[in-house]
Amino acid sequence: MQLNEAEVAKFRARNPRSKELWEKTKEIIPTGHGGGMGYFLPHPIMVDHAKGCWIWDVDGNRYLDMRIGDWVLIHGHCDDDIRDAVMHQMERSVQIGGPEWDLGYRLAKLLVDRMPSVDKVRFFVSGTDANMCAVRVSRIATGRMKIAKTEGSYHGTADVLLIGSTILRDPTQWEPPGLLTGTDKEVVEIPFNDPDGAEAILERHGADIAAVLVEPVQGAAGMIEATGEYLQRLRDVTTKLGIILIFDEVVTLPVAYGGAQAHFGVTPDLTTMGKAIGGGLPCSAVGGRADLMDLMEPDAHDGQPPFNPMATFGGNQIAMAAGIACLEKLTPQEHDRVNALGIKIMKGIDEIGRRYEIPVHSTGLGHLIGLHWAPERVVDFRTRLLDDREKVVNIMMALVNEDIYQTYTGMFLLSTAIGEPEVDHFMTTFEKCLHTLGYVS
Ligand code: PMP
Repeated sequence: MQLNEAEVAKFRARNPRSKELWEKTKEIIPTGHGGGMGYFLPHPIMVDHAKGCWIWDVDGNRYLDMRIGDWVLIHGHCDDDIRDAVMHQMERSVQIGGPEWDLGYRLAKLLVDRMPSVDKVRFFVSGTDANMCAVRVSRIATGRMKIAKTEGSYHGTADVLLIGSTILRDPTQWEPPGLLTGTDKEVVEIPFNDPDGAEAILERHGADIAAVLVEPVQGAAGMIEATGEYLQRLRDVTTKLGIILIFDEVVTLPVAYGGAQAHFGVTPDLTTMGKAIGGGLPCSAVGGRADLMDLMEPDAHDGQPPFNPMATFGGNQIAMAAGIACLEKLTPQEHDRVNALGIKIMKGIDEIGRRYEIPVHSTGLGHLIGLHWAPERVVDFRTRLLDDREKVVNIMMALVNEDIYQTYTGMFLLSTAIGEPEVDHFMTTFEKCLHTLGYVS
């Protein structure tokens, strides 16, 4: 990949301290990032602190944050209400182990009230945990072993979730090493946004498939929104074939008050959640139909449920308190406001593409926005592979040099801490970067 030399030079001149501290960190932490998806070309920026929609790095640069902690911080950084809830809870309890009253109940109730498909909820820590739980419950409920997933999806790091999920690498060319032998036999891949293609495969393998696992907006694959027709077809076919339909709403829950399932009007059997529901603290959940959730209820099984998913930190009180404070202020009005900003950016990117006659366009839904430079509109993983990744990465680097923070993978995420002025500033800066890079004249 050829990075623009002038922008690389600018980046290095702006971030010497980041480079120094990143090298030091890498000596004891692979990638130099303690946790998640860290990598950024030419090297990561080491962040010092953040507040609202702003981030400050160790070199003193201030950025508009359009990464929101990798889909987590729907209210921006260090939100005052979430901070107060956390501080209050720190005085009461952090982690009990046994049941406590009433944080778990209140967060579960907020989720149950938002999603009619969710009768009951169980808490975990990561999105991977939640998806593994939903897969297990589906296998127990159906007595079948295979899982169907959409091409290019991302659901977490467990073996069965990783098959076909090679973010930014073509899964037909590369399979992640180290997976348990035979795992690929347990996964059936179905095309995304192709109702007929997906239905034909599900019909063929239906008798062996426990669950269809689908992201209503493919996140890591490039913020590619499903069509309502596609999701409805999955609903109809899975009902017919006795397959559990799992919506992975780890990323999409904040696109509408009732999650993406409310936006599309399609009801899954199980929903997995994560990221935003913990208000910035580690928290995930599985929710769904009572009969399925009761496979984890000892009282429904003489004290011996088929599945007892013991998650030490599931329901941790600080995470629950933060999650409650987060969801309580994520009102329908706030969804509308941030979604309108998302639409403004998506339309703005598309308009720039048309005006300059370049194949730049956006995908996404609500506060989730994907940027693409592809000859065809990106609607699935196949079209995503047509993206000119070099151009996208260079645009993202140029944006960082203009104080807009995001991942280098071509996505812009909005929080409720962002307003019209920041969105307007972003659009102007985006256009400016296309000029700086010589991509338009
Ligand atoms: N599902 C989706 C849709 C995701 O995007 C992710 C993570 N980006 C996960 C699941 C896994 O979540 P975690 O990293 O918390 O395990």
